[in-house]
Amino acid sequence: MATPLKEKIYRMFSNDIGIDLGTANTLVYLRGKGIVINEPSVVAVNQKTGQVVAVGSSAKAMLGRTPAHIIAVRPLVDGVISDFEVTEEMIAYLVKKAESQSKKFLGPRVVVGVPSGITNVEIRAVRDATRNAGAREVYIVEEPMAGAIGIRLPVNDPVGSMVVDIGGGTTDVAVISLGGIVRSKNLKIAGDKLNTDIITYIRSEFKILIGEKTAEAVKIAIGSVLPGEEPLETAIRGRDLITGLPREVVITDSDIREAITQSIDNLVESVKEVLETTPPEIIADVMRNGVYLLGGGALIKGLDRLLHDVLKMPVYVAEDPLTAIARGTGIILEDLEKYQEALIQNEDELPHKK
Ligand code: ADP
Ligand code: MG
Repeated sequence: MATPLKEKIYRMFSNDIGIDLGTANTLVYLRGKGIVINEPSVVAVNQKTGQVVAVGSSAKAMLGRTPAHIIAVRPLVDGVISDFEVTEEMIAYLVKKAESQSKKFLGPRVVVGVPSGITNVEIRAVRDATRNAGAREVYIVEEPMAGAIGIRLPVNDPVGSMVVDIGGGTTDVAVISLGGIVRSKNLKIAGDKLNTDIITYIRSEFKILIGEKTAEAVKIAIGSVLPGEEPLETAIRGRDLITGLPREVVITDSDIREAITQSIDNLVESVKEVLETTPPEIIADVMRNGVYLLGGGALIKGLDRLLHDVLKMPVYVAEDPLTAIARGTGIILEDLEKYQEALIQNEDELPHKK
């Protein structure tokens, strides 16, 4: 951590950057400016040369429209660094793009949010990748911690806070107190799993095949985990499994509920498991202060009500849940000293990791 004078100089001349390396969306926060990048976590790679040809929305737009040797990869899906080189190029691209929006000349200090399920080897890989991208200093923070800071929970106080961050590839359930993660669980049930549940259900019930994009659009439009006041329906197009021709069917919110019910049950079960191993004093805090839902998956209709019914405690959807982690990295950058405890200083000494 910098001395006060050094800190002053950094604050004037350094581009301080926060990165939320999500499995579905990558956000970048630039100190003094706010969120300057919000792009899908997709990288287009030329398989012949190994080169990265596009990152983010332009890479996503290439999906299905490019020659066969250009493939789009989501480097962070299913675990973290499935492809170190691609991740490194992605981080370099993000840092360069953020720096181009600022006139400060010192190499940036970078806070990177990583999923709580990340291994120590992967943390080291992210640290190295960020350094190689030109960062002067690298700070790693677990995403549920960054999210809790982003929604201004009192993470440094001797009081328990609980967040459930439902992203694309993974969900992080975490209980936080005194600047640290007391209990956590990282599971692969999140937005992507709900999409594949919907694809599977529509195939078996309606005998048509729909794509990922359609499944996601349907989920966002009419997906819910408890019946709402009015039934919802939408028409979707897919390929008839028997004739091979396009066919349209109308599906309802209750179809979607049935499709995702098993995954939602598993998710709720995981939240309960984390609570069951949490020390009683901290549970009492959580019962009083509530559970906060973050990430895009927090927006699925009725999830807060369902969790409230099961857990018998207040459950809130965080304001703007998709940007909470990025905002948290920004708050950390404003006061690195204050959040020292919340950062991973040395990945070899993580009490809640094996
Ligand atoms: P990550 O942190 O893993 O990048 P995000 O927090 O950006 O993930 O959330 C992305 C996920 O949220 C996607 O699976 C997307 O389908 C889902 N999502 C976004 N908006 C909604 C919504 N309104 N209802 C349900 N799911 C949503
Ligand atoms: Mg996330």
